[in-house]
Amino acid sequence: MVSRPPTRVAIIGAGLAGLTLAISLHRQGIPSKIYELRQPTVATSGALMLSPNALRILDTLGLYERLHKQGFNFETLDFKNHDQITTDKYYLGQEKLYGYKALRIYRQVLLTELRAEVKNLNIPVTYGVKFSHIISENEDGVKFAFTDGTHASSDILIGADGIHSTVRKYIAPDVIPKYSGMVAITCALQRSTLQYPPDIRAEDYPMPVAIHGKNGAFVMAPQNVDGSEVLAGTQRAWPEQDRAGWDALLADREGLLKLFREGYDTWPEIVQSALDNVPLDTLAIWPYYTVPKLESWFSANKRVIILGDAAHAIPPTAGQGASQGFEDAFTLAALLPHINGKLPLDEALINWKDMRQQRIDKVIKLTLQLNNARLPEAEREKLAAAGAPVWESGDHGELGWLYNTEVEKEVLDYVKAKNKNPHTCPVDWVASKLGSPKQA
Ligand SMILES: Cc1cc2nc3c(=O)[nH]c(=O)nc-3n(C[C@H](O)[C@H](O)[C@H](O)COP(=O)(O)OP(=O)(O)OC[C@H]3O[C@@H](n4cnc5c(N)ncnc54)[C@H](O)[C@@H]3O)c2cc1C
Repeated sequence: MVSRPPTRVAIIGAGLAGLTLAISLHRQGIPSKIYELRQPTVATSGALMLSPNALRILDTLGLYERLHKQGFNFETLDFKNHDQITTDKYYLGQEKLYGYKALRIYRQVLLTELRAEVKNLNIPVTYGVKFSHIISENEDGVKFAFTDGTHASSDILIGADGIHSTVRKYIAPDVIPKYSGMVAITCALQRSTLQYPPDIRAEDYPMPVAIHGKNGAFVMAPQNVDGSEVLAGTQRAWPEQDRAGWDALLADREGLLKLFREGYDTWPEIVQSALDNVPLDTLAIWPYYTVPKLESWFSANKRVIILGDAAHAIPPTAGQGASQGFEDAFTLAALLPHINGKLPLDEALINWKDMRQQRIDKVIKLTLQLNNARLPEAEREKLAAAGAPVWESGDHGELGWLYNTEVEKEVLDYVKAKNKNPHTCPVDWVASKLGSPKQA
């Protein structure tokens, strides 16, 4: 039984969760070392939505000031119908109620800032090494291997190696990511190329916006500082492909454009103008894969742990994939310094996983409600008639459970309760802390 904090942590993956974990551990006085497959010179494309729960963590880690100046800050995603009537507003952030506006920022900018902070804190990162397998795990720690034949060891190993995680194979060998049957097709275009409804001035047209048409939703979201570049996209049902198949779909630009433009006549003018002005070189696809709910996020001997997309890649609609990874990293780092005789690592991890899983489950319920709101008109009507949960905003503040929860304080409250009364039951404690998402 491990009853002291780890002094050496190996992190596999220098993505969003892995880098945030290393910075969070440093804040707690725990040294770590990161091993990353790709070279830092490999550029990544696209942008992410970050909501107040993620931004609060980045703020605590001293990164928010730098980041929010490099992205597009906004509060709502407007839902519009085919006739351009605003039917609802979904708050991806709100300064007044949730402390922060939402931030849409290029992934590359976020990674660059996280890497710079890791460097600034002298956290070692080995780039260009691919984790292969765990060699052994016992009371003394964990030994692991890379594909180049080299080995390393540490007290614990944390896999933050993304949706196709190799570390996960050690914990849950039979689990493979599940394809949802939907692929998003997106492009990045200039906002100035859009054709707005005749009675609305371009600067008054709300962005980001999700237009819920006859064929589902078409989303447009500004993604650079002045909002002049807009991500535009929709999703299509498409059969699962292997890697070569997805690459081929992406490589066939004209074919992809044709698929993107399917149902062109059913969209309002502004969407048609987006589809008329697609810069072919910015066309991208995003097949939606999820990781089925895992029984455990750690190995039997508790020396190998997974987090971020490796543990719970979730559907994208609530924009919470990266944010939940930040929460995993931040809360685990808050917990580890408190491992002691009354709170051994085994028990701490069981509690941490329960706490995190319950939150992820609520995000998945929220995502389902939002997905239902995005379906083609006829399907939405059928769902409404069947009483299925479809997202509808209330009087504001209904996302407080997601954006305002102080996840670190919850961990520390648990640690305090546990030290006072070692019989505190993790599951009861977690349940007492968590409210319900709207309509859940
Ligand atoms: C197109 C797109 C748009 C998205 N938009 C949003 C959004 O708006 N908001 C949001 O919250 N989320 C969004 N997401 C989800 C978000 O990107 C993920 O949830 C997030 O990146 C997960 O972070 P992670 O660190 O767990 O995994 P990753 O970011 O995938 O990082 C994993 C890292 O591990 C490395 N690695 C993998 N295998 C190995 C190995 N064997 N050895 C060593 N290193 C390895 C990889 O190279 C990578 O650097 C989006 C995802 C996509 C694809």
